[in-house]
Amino acid sequence: MISQNISVDEIDKQIISIIQKDPTITHTDIAKRVDRSQPTIGLRIRKLEEAGLINFQAGLNLRVADVMIAQVKITTNNPEKILDKTKECPFMLNAFRLSGEDNIIILIANSTIKHLDQIVNEHFRRDPDVLKVKMDIITNVMKDFVLPLDINMEDCNCLLGIDI
Ligand SMILES: [Zn+2]
Repeated sequence: MISQNISVDEIDKQIISIIQKDPTITHTDIAKRVDRSQPTIGLRIRKLEEAGLINFQAGLNLRVADVMIAQVKITTNNPEKILDKTKECPFMLNAFRLSGEDNIIILIANSTIKHLDQIVNEHFRRDPDVLKVKMDIITNVMKDFVLPLDINMEDCNCLLGIDI
């Protein structure tokens, strides 16, 4: 269920669960908890990392960070092109392909609503392949939501000419 690419057994699931709760835990402590040897734990963790299933990545917790985030729903004839654009702009945190009429959701972040609006205007509202755009500001994040994010928010052409 977790991955079709590698087989994950009960011990792996326990290891994943332990690491998620405490990413700094040592292999020795995990070994004690799941009743396996320390080298076994090391091998299993390496296997899970190589498969891309677990990832030790620090980031900014958007639940507490002083940053505005918005959800942008887009209807487009050319989802591949729109998804490609999101890779170029540092203010776009992630993008999701949807099955419905609105076929893409993008999460964007910046310091003000004005900037968020400008980002959406420049990248999407002016794009002839975009049929519909709806931006909603996320007002509350219930659980920790940690994403790697450049706090300095390097510039993108979308904010040219707007005062920062
Ligand atoms: Zn941009």
